[in-house]
Amino acid sequence: MNFEFDETERAILDNANAFLEKELRDDAGRYRDHMVPKEVMHALLKRLSPFGFLGTLIPEADGGSGLSFLMSIRLYEELFRVFPALAGTAFVNQMVGYGLYMDGTSEQKRRYLPGLLSGELIGCQAATEPETGSNPKDIRMRARRDGDGYRLNGRKIWISSGSIADFCMVLVRTDDKQTNRMIVDRAGFTARELETLGQRGWSTAELNFDDAWIPESQRMGGQGAGAQQTLRDFTVARCFAAIMGVGTAQAALDAAISYARQRHQWGKPIGQHQLIQEMVADMATELDCARLLAYRAAWMVQQGIRADTQASMAKYYASEAALRIASKAVQIHGALGLSRDLPIEGYFRDARMISIPDGTSQLQQLIIARNILGLAAFGDAKR
Ligand SMILES: Cc1cc2nc3c(=O)[nH]c(=O)nc-3n(C[C@H](O)[C@H](O)[C@H](O)COP(=O)(O)OP(=O)(O)OC[C@H]3O[C@@H](n4cnc5c(N)ncnc54)[C@H](O)[C@@H]3O)c2cc1C
Repeated sequence: MNFEFDETERAILDNANAFLEKELRDDAGRYRDHMVPKEVMHALLKRLSPFGFLGTLIPEADGGSGLSFLMSIRLYEELFRVFPALAGTAFVNQMVGYGLYMDGTSEQKRRYLPGLLSGELIGCQAATEPETGSNPKDIRMRARRDGDGYRLNGRKIWISSGSIADFCMVLVRTDDKQTNRMIVDRAGFTARELETLGQRGWSTAELNFDDAWIPESQRMGGQGAGAQQTLRDFTVARCFAAIMGVGTAQAALDAAISYARQRHQWGKPIGQHQLIQEMVADMATELDCARLLAYRAAWMVQQGIRADTQASMAKYYASEAALRIASKAVQIHGALGLSRDLPIEGYFRDARMISIPDGTSQLQQLIIARNILGLAAFGDAKR
């Protein structure tokens, strides 16, 4: 396993980091607790695009950035550390682009991919429904045959980027009871923004499809394979979710280190008290474990090695570790850690979000154990 970057990659990372720190820090602070409006998000995505953030899952020949997956994960680690709302929206754009690249028709790719890669378009993907969360194979939303297209009715919930999306890649059940992914432009659904505990700069919405008609050409390839495609994409998505945990935790640890050096109690910096040192040591060790698990999963994906177990381990561990690390960062700040004047309590709220989407911690545990034991406690027994 090799996590080394060559000179060009290091230069890309340095450039991207300098840009994030110098150009986006202020915006990140402004939108820490307020949703980034659609037009602002488009402008931010367009500024990210030249650094390769938006096309990392697509080969260069097809318009992608040509960066390795591990490199992509490193870039997102920095972006999640600095600007979680922008990182989240860009991550969803990447996943929608990946889905289109893998299963879209050439017409769909021509129509949507360039806009996703440039920031001109914002996409979202919708599987979850009010009655169906952890098991996407159970979705109920219907797409009934109507002429040379489909009529869609149903509700999707907790959809990231939902209220600012220009189009949605939605998982539906067709008349033959099979699941399919379809692309619905913004005019085909309404969106209601949902308030959440953390990640408040990043849209999370309920989408309502009320008799929306779409032509057959908007159905994605792989007839009847919609749920399977959604599950396949989870390996990549879980690497991103893991790195979301790493970036969030790094921001919390950075703040804790800086505060522990500068805050004095009992005549010395609090960082010189052994129990604060214990917390810092635990935070740094857990963060490194999370980071290495995420890099390993990404490296395996990049090598074309099956990595569903490792992606689940990375997502499970990193999301839970991020919460522990962010909680200790609050503790080290004392009362200030609870104050809305500092971003620390925000890191804690953001970290709490990560163990739910892209498969809850319990689902990751079940996947890991199923793959090790060869015995499934849920769904079908297949890996
Ligand atoms: C911030 C955020 C963003 C999201 N973004 C998207 C998105 O873009 N697109 C999308 O389609 N969805 C999205 N979701 C939805 C997310 O995928 C679901 O919330 C998640 O899959 C869990 O589903 P649920 O909330 O319905 O919980 P449920 O499935 O109802 O689970 C409730 C509890 O039961 C546990 N549980 C469930 N099954 C088992 C089992 N077999 N054994 C043991 N415990 C079990 C779960 O771990 C959980 O603790 C998002 C959610 C959040 C919070």
